[in-house]
Amino acid sequence: MKNIFKALSVLSLLLLNTIHSSGQCPYDNTAYLQGTAPTVIGNFIEAAETWAGEFNRVTGMVAGNTYRISTCNTPTYDSQISIYPAGGGTLIASDDDGCGTSGGPSSIDFTPTVSGDYDVLLDYYQDAQNPCESNTIDMTMRVTLISTGGSQNPPDLTIPVVVHVVYNDPNTENISDAQIFSQIQVLNADYRRLNADFSIVPGAFSGIAADMKIEFCMASRTPSGSATNGITRTQTSVLEFTGDNAVKSSATGGKDPWNPQNYLNFWVCNLGGGLLGYAQFPADLATSPETDGVVIGYKYFGNTGPAVAPPYNLGRTATHEVGHWLNLRHIWGDASCGDDFVNDTPTQEDHNYQCPNFPHITCSNGPNGDMFMDYMDYVNDNCMAMFSEGQKVRVQATIAGARSGLSSSLGCQVVGIDEIGWLSGLSISPNPGKGEFRISGSFPAGEKLNVTVYNLMGQIVNETKVVDQAGLKIDLSNSSAGI
Ligand code: ZN
Ligand code: CA
Repeated sequence: MKNIFKALSVLSLLLLNTIHSSGQCPYDNTAYLQGTAPTVIGNFIEAAETWAGEFNRVTGMVAGNTYRISTCNTPTYDSQISIYPAGGGTLIASDDDGCGTSGGPSSIDFTPTVSGDYDVLLDYYQDAQNPCESNTIDMTMRVTLISTGGSQNPPDLTIPVVVHVVYNDPNTENISDAQIFSQIQVLNADYRRLNADFSIVPGAFSGIAADMKIEFCMASRTPSGSATNGITRTQTSVLEFTGDNAVKSSATGGKDPWNPQNYLNFWVCNLGGGLLGYAQFPADLATSPETDGVVIGYKYFGNTGPAVAPPYNLGRTATHEVGHWLNLRHIWGDASCGDDFVNDTPTQEDHNYQCPNFPHITCSNGPNGDMFMDYMDYVNDNCMAMFSEGQKVRVQATIAGARSGLSSSLGCQVVGIDEIGWLSGLSISPNPGKGEFRISGSFPAGEKLNVTVYNLMGQIVNETKVVDQAGLKIDLSNSSAGI
């Protein structure tokens, strides 16, 4: 964009709308490539060698997702991007110099409000009189998924989590809040199929990889209604726990669970006996509530911390154990060519360790072989990356059945909100999160909120004015990490 138009746009937004200039190119380009919008955060599709005067069609864009569409990788000329519904119609969005260089390539973060297919036009800004020209200079148009749906793609269930840290050695076993938060983020990625390493899933299985539609939040309310950060810390004289549930009771050197109908209880401790972690199945909740939950060794919890090291360093032990806690069986059925009661996971002979090569054929399960990259196998953390649609069916039955108490849990509601008469049941998720937070609660249609986010030092981090029922989102992706 030339400077004169920049100046005009600062003086008057209305004026900008009436000038046929930056980014406002007519729908008169010719079709070049077509591609499917990425579904995993961080993944992108690319149209190399797009010329000005062409458009690329992006199919399957999801309302509420944000896609970064850019030519920043190829700063060859002053490009313009214009986005139309597939086939043309009213211009939806456009950009001229979004890569930050005046007279350079373009980048726009596009959040469609309607799911569907879109045409992204590339034009050449020659000068103010010729802003939408053609040329045959190659540019790469890249479409990256940078965030997903927020309020428009809510989970079926958000599970309140309490993490009981039970430590003997305060220097090693009393893990940091940051290590704990990293585990919650891993769970939120893995159970929404937003894990950045999803691309390791072979094409033969990626089509049945499920968004489990489950999210996790650190509890903000204790069972008795007090405020909490969702973490308890207990020093113990026990040097090493085993798989005998001792860590789950204060009488045996551990910590009693919070009501397991309403919380996912994690215990993090020095776990021996060759175990990374262990879990209790939902069928035992009614008879043994005092041992419901998941135990993980402190070296395997989360993906950051001084003792966290390969090959179990990506938080997948908890992803696997929470799978058991939601009624998933080991993928090999704990028997030679056994049954995991899931139809779309191929029968496989045994567990896999480390990272097999695809395809790994056993039990006549060719050509695709074992689904060893499933979280319910025993491979290394960097080799597992999916749950299947069939596993999701089993988990959905669990959250509607044995674990139905979670959906009415108050565990992640904000304490102290009752002073605001018309606002009830306020909760914030995912929390911790990577930048985009969703506010849920009930308040009358037409009411609006001013949301102010402070950090622990009392400084304002973000002010989102006029959040209404339709857009209950706070975007902190530009703020630095912290509490
Ligand atoms: Zn297991
Ligand atoms: Ca199976």
